[in-house]
Amino acid sequence: MSAQFESTPWIWNDGEFIRWEDATLHVMAHVVHYGSSVFEGVRCYSTPEGPAIFRLDDHISRFFDSCRIYRMELACTKDELAAACHELVRRNELEECYIRPVSIRGYGAAGLNPEASPVETYVVCWPWGAYLGAAALEEGVDACVSTWNRPAPNTYPALAKAGGHYLNGQLMKMEAAANGYAEAIALSPSGLVSEGSGQNLFLVKNGILTTPEPDGTLLMGITRDSIMALARDEGIEVREEAIPRERLYTADELFFTGTASEVTPIRSVDRIQVGGGGGGAGPVTRTVQERFLRIARGIDPDPRRWRSYSADAPSADAPALAAVEVA
Ligand code: PMP
Repeated sequence: MSAQFESTPWIWNDGEFIRWEDATLHVMAHVVHYGSSVFEGVRCYSTPEGPAIFRLDDHISRFFDSCRIYRMELACTKDELAAACHELVRRNELEECYIRPVSIRGYGAAGLNPEASPVETYVVCWPWGAYLGAAALEEGVDACVSTWNRPAPNTYPALAKAGGHYLNGQLMKMEAAANGYAEAIALSPSGLVSEGSGQNLFLVKNGILTTPEPDGTLLMGITRDSIMALARDEGIEVREEAIPRERLYTADELFFTGTASEVTPIRSVDRIQVGGGGGGAGPVTRTVQERFLRIARGIDPDPRRWRSYSADAPSADAPALAAVEVA
């Protein structure tokens, strides 16, 4: 099997560890036809005390919320899924990786109603470097405003991180690439700034950090939340508000946030240079980027307990072993 990502030996599947090559689906699985999956993207960082997963409990909570929105009943608890993530990192012997819990509607019925197709849950992890390229974190990326809007509230539920929703992001991303941009920024149906294809967005103007308010068109990013908290710690004023498109062109600094993208500066939008030009991260972007990465990488103290160490976590095998012993 050839692919543009590195495979790892093990994948977790509903309580068992299976080989990477055995994690296959039937073409008639419901998810293939109708996009019926929910997923998470989580990062595990190498720290001086071993691999640490960043805000794992928050990712697992969002995952369970996404399942609830789509009426998917999971066979495992939050604790079991968290233990599975840690055990997977240990088994695959990775210091640093991206972790992808995903629940799908499998092989069951051909019609649209997903409830006759069984829910299957997997956790996959693999080494994944900077999403927008190694230089992006330093130099920034060129972005455009997409001609594709985000879906209106009460169409696709933006708070759910569901597979089918990403068809919209794919259109944005392909259009951006076709026009020579690294990433796209979508507007909401009302024409206000929403988010990137797989990132939230912040702007800085006169020292104030502003991000689009929760309006039912964007995902409530966990990195977004981390950056707002870290900026406030630094005494930076943070606002969530409606952002008209033209504020992208007049901002002093702009950056994307996301688990995959981390904190990526934006150096131009629609070929208009951000701030004074010259690319790279501005001072506020640099401050929050550094704070974020230093906490994730175990360099700075972690008062909010965002890091959870795989070495300390209970084994995902523990419940099964305990059951055997009792029997
Ligand atoms: N918006 C979208 C559409 C995303 O896919 C992501 C990535 N999960 C984000 C925002 C950022 O979310 P987070 O910081 O939780 O990764």
